[in-house]
Amino acid sequence: MTESKVIVIAGASSGIGEASAKLLAKNGNKLVLGARREGNLKEIVSQIQSNNGEAVYQVTDVTNNQQVESLVKLAITTFGRIDVMINSAGIMPHSLLKDKRIQDWDRMIDINIKGTLYGVGAVLPYMNKQKIGQIINISSVAGHYAHAGGAVYSATKWAVRAISESLREEVAQNGSNIRVTIVSPGAINTELLSSVTDPALKENYEQFYGNFGISADRVATTIQQAIDLPADAAWNEVIIRPTKQVQ
Ligand code: NDP
Repeated sequence: MTESKVIVIAGASSGIGEASAKLLAKNGNKLVLGARREGNLKEIVSQIQSNNGEAVYQVTDVTNNQQVESLVKLAITTFGRIDVMINSAGIMPHSLLKDKRIQDWDRMIDINIKGTLYGVGAVLPYMNKQKIGQIINISSVAGHYAHAGGAVYSATKWAVRAISESLREEVAQNGSNIRVTIVSPGAINTELLSSVTDPALKENYEQFYGNFGISADRVATTIQQAIDLPADAAWNEVIIRPTKQVQ
């Protein structure tokens, strides 16, 4: 039996965030869930509660710093502390640069990069005061490899890794037990492909995920394992890919 922790998940209404919320709650942790789709959040919280788990939600757009701060505050007012912040909100509208889908570029930068930064900024004052905590940022295999069509998405996921590594140094310099973990998944079957707006690229990715994609439960298990390590040790980065995925 692992120690019960207060865990906030930004991007908890589907996919990796949802699977993590359900697993972490099943294992006795207290969950605070944020995302934009209230219906999904309500349903996930009610499933957790009907399995005797503890969870609350608040509608949150991670592009709005005040809403992210308010989500984190909900953890403090409801459960008295925050032990883990999981920044999972993200979109992946792949396209070729020549097509200049500038709105998609902006949305990726706002959600994937700025959303992660706001999550980090919101929990740091509490964790610095507690001198303990864990921040888990979801990057991607695309944060290690870049391909045509994935320029901006990869750039945002590279940025998540850069932010996380800088953060790791910063909190280590303070002598705290704040752990920073980057989780970089490969092809995971979630709703992520619905954010691809280019029809040809979408078809390619649907085929790829159809052949290789694995369940979001695998990432949830990885996250639980990263949380379970004793506080004086951290998985700073883990790549979790389908075994058969080449790159
Ligand atoms: P999903 O599309 O299933 O989940 C994305 C989550 O992000 C949803 O809960 C969505 O909630 C939330 N989200 C999107 N925009 C916002 C926003 N503005 N404010 C708050 N929440 C937002 O996909 P995944 O679970 O796969 O994605 C989770 C993370 O994993 C992403 O960062 C993604 O880049 C990363 N990843 C996924 C991989 C995969 O193959 N699936 C591979 C590598 C990385 P809502 O729409 O309700 O706001």
